Amino acid sequence: MRKVLSILWIAIVFLVGCSHANTQLELDHRGYVIEKNLEYTSSQDEDAVVKNIILLIGDGMGANQVEVARQILLQEDEGFDFDKAEYKAEVITSCLDNYVTDSAAAATAFATGVKTNYETVGKDKDGNDLKTILDYAKEAGMKTGIITDKGLNDATPAAFSVHLNNRYLLQDTIPTQQIESGIDIFIGGGAATYIDYEEAIKAEGYDFITTKEGLFSTKADRILATYSSGRLMNHTTDVPTLAEMTNKAINVLAKNKKGFFLMVEAGQIDNRCGEGNIKEMAKSVQELDKALRVALNFARSNQETLVVVLADHETGGLILGDGEPDISWFTEETRYHTPVNVPLYAYGTRSSFFANKIIDNTEVFEILMEFLKLR
Ligand SMILES: [Zn+2]
Repeated sequence: MRKVLSILWIAIVFLVGCSHANTQLELDHRGYVIEKNLEYTSSQDEDAVVKNIILLIGDGMGANQVEVARQILLQEDEGFDFDKAEYKAEVITSCLDNYVTDSAAAATAFATGVKTNYETVGKDKDGNDLKTILDYAKEAGMKTGIITDKGLNDATPAAFSVHLNNRYLLQDTIPTQQIESGIDIFIGGGAATYIDYEEAIKAEGYDFITTKEGLFSTKADRILATYSSGRLMNHTTDVPTLAEMTNKAINVLAKNKKGFFLMVEAGQIDNRCGEGNIKEMAKSVQELDKALRVALNFARSNQETLVVVLADHETGGLILGDGEPDISWFTEETRYHTPVNVPLYAYGTRSSFFANKIIDNTEVFEILMEFLKLR
């Protein structure tokens, strides 16, 4: 009898272990996670608790990028979850010393609430370190995570985790600053850089992961997973998708009773606009859309989660022309950033706050801080 019980116990432990480790997504034919929780009952009351925030950033994603992607994807019978936004707003993008911002200063505004200079991450104009929303969240016992499909040392993830007067100078200090930041999860590109820091990463208690399977199977609560040698994560079957990375992070972070803050960047929209490649740009928007579906699925079952999608700036001066979209639809001479306002989409708890507002990029920080009752 004792033997039977112990076998039964081993079987139970094994099954629980497997279900915990199994973070594979159930996908439909288009690669979208199959939605399980369609009922929204998230509260819009002023005193409603926002326990978790998932902030998704489309790098270079102006309103026209979203519209062109919508037209292309719907024509191809693909899904598009931006349309499910409950409330929409506009964000003013300029940085302190330039009307046209770069990704670093823009992400610093979201992360810290302070307008800073072009190419600066996590510091003010005088070079002082700025406290990020992740720092405040950690102090309140929340868990934190950063995801990108560019390098983890690129501008947006850096603005949420390090402090540098210029994102291109002292770049080799970015991994060191990140692993000493206390942030629980980093998933993104830049493996060629981060592999050199493997020992230091492990010494800080992170599970250092370089394979897709490793990410799916790890049971660690602190993860630094990194892929692809170049600046952009290659979208091959060997690396996780933005949606898979988002799903894994949510599974780990949501175990925390005091909530979490997760930033997810779809970084390649900016690059595809820079190349003038509209079809690939639409695919990059779709990667963000698939990650959004994962976030919404969680938000609906959790009911204490706010999901916000926005952009740091527009790239390329994209217009909506007639007929087939092509490179001539990008009107900015060098297909670089432009200063137009960018769209913000909000879903879930307290999302109605954003309805029809025009907000500065620094106000995003203030609003999210207030929702999380971090001050
Ligand atoms: Zn950018």
